[in-house]
Amino acid sequence: MTEIFDVTKIRQGFPILQTEVKGKPLVYFDNAATNQKPKEVIEALEDYYSNTNANIHRGIHYLSEKATAAYEDTRKAVAQFLGAAEPEEIIFTKGTTEGINLVAQTYGRQNLKKGDEVLISTMEHHSNIVPWQMICEETGATLKVIPINDAGEIIWDEFENLLSEKTKILSIVYVSNALGTINPVKKMIDKAHEVGAVVMVDGAQSTSHIQVNVQELDADFYAFSGHKVYGPTGMGALYGKRSLLESMPPYQGGGEMIAEVTFEKTTYNELPYKFEAGTPNIGDVIAFHTALNYVESIGLQNIYDHEHELMLYATGKMLEIKGLNIIGQAQEKTSVVSFHFEDVHHQDLAIMLDNYGIAIRTGHHCTQPLMQRFGILGTSRVSFAVYNTKEEIDYFIDSLHKVLNILR
Ligand code: PMP
Repeated sequence: MTEIFDVTKIRQGFPILQTEVKGKPLVYFDNAATNQKPKEVIEALEDYYSNTNANIHRGIHYLSEKATAAYEDTRKAVAQFLGAAEPEEIIFTKGTTEGINLVAQTYGRQNLKKGDEVLISTMEHHSNIVPWQMICEETGATLKVIPINDAGEIIWDEFENLLSEKTKILSIVYVSNALGTINPVKKMIDKAHEVGAVVMVDGAQSTSHIQVNVQELDADFYAFSGHKVYGPTGMGALYGKRSLLESMPPYQGGGEMIAEVTFEKTTYNELPYKFEAGTPNIGDVIAFHTALNYVESIGLQNIYDHEHELMLYATGKMLEIKGLNIIGQAQEKTSVVSFHFEDVHHQDLAIMLDNYGIAIRTGHHCTQPLMQRFGILGTSRVSFAVYNTKEEIDYFIDSLHKVLNILR
């Protein structure tokens, strides 16, 4: 494997990778759930609470102004990172889940009615299913689901057949957390726009792996979580086109989101504050700026190339193992390998691999309907990040053989 960058050096920048698990060096292959944080991000959090901590926007003192400037700088950095036209189109949330719920509860409630349809796919995470079910139930709209093929790809003809003037919203995952499939989101957005639907993109798994430009995609909404992009938990962002965000009612009521309040009537603040009620997650947002700088210093294309090479390497080795089925063999996929054995339960596998210091994820991956599509209860999943290595994969394969010998 050609080294795209110095992985040894990169690994030294992640303190947690020094962890020993049951006397073995940690092998962290649960990156699709959350990835680990470089020391710069950890230090940024400490620095914020040591030198900046104050509530933002209304304070006229030194710390408040400093915190406000840093918070708003992150908004500018996120806008730039996603290719948004302006920072006001970035709403800070606690993550992808909140971003999708925000759109469902505001745009959805305002625009859906009986007879309308919301379109999602079979491979959606629960956070891109349940918010739509809830708003469909409330408004009388119908949820429609695009089928996928055995490789874990959208069936294009079925997608086109499901689109009609009734389709008001298409909400689609860019990269599947359970399969690794990269969906042809740009093509899907263009098709959905032809029938006048707006498109929400679940960017939870795409944002740290592939270069995203929301304007080039022409996405109407795009949500992601900071903790999957080498940043802290508890923060994320929603991108929305200005015209849409302006037309939408607020999500939650409270401080920050108002222009003026009387007991008779409240007027709302301008974008983006209209959607940021209450004291936000200031420290984590500010530290996320450091995470973005970190990602940009390595380069998303380099990260993608490295992870893609690891994914192909792992896939090749895993296919040699008797009885191992890879769930998700899309032409376009990244950084995730989900696998299944008829004769070994994934739970047993994960518990025993943990004894070797290997962290993998097992179960339904918050995609129960997808598991039903494949007729299984769950899979085991390895997922890679910038700091993973081919040597770790070799160790994993070796350990997997040992575990299978015991379990079979
Ligand atoms: N969508 C996908 C595809 C995901 O992988 C996840 C997280 N596993 C989410 C949405 C939800 O993200 P969060 O829990 O950070 O809100």
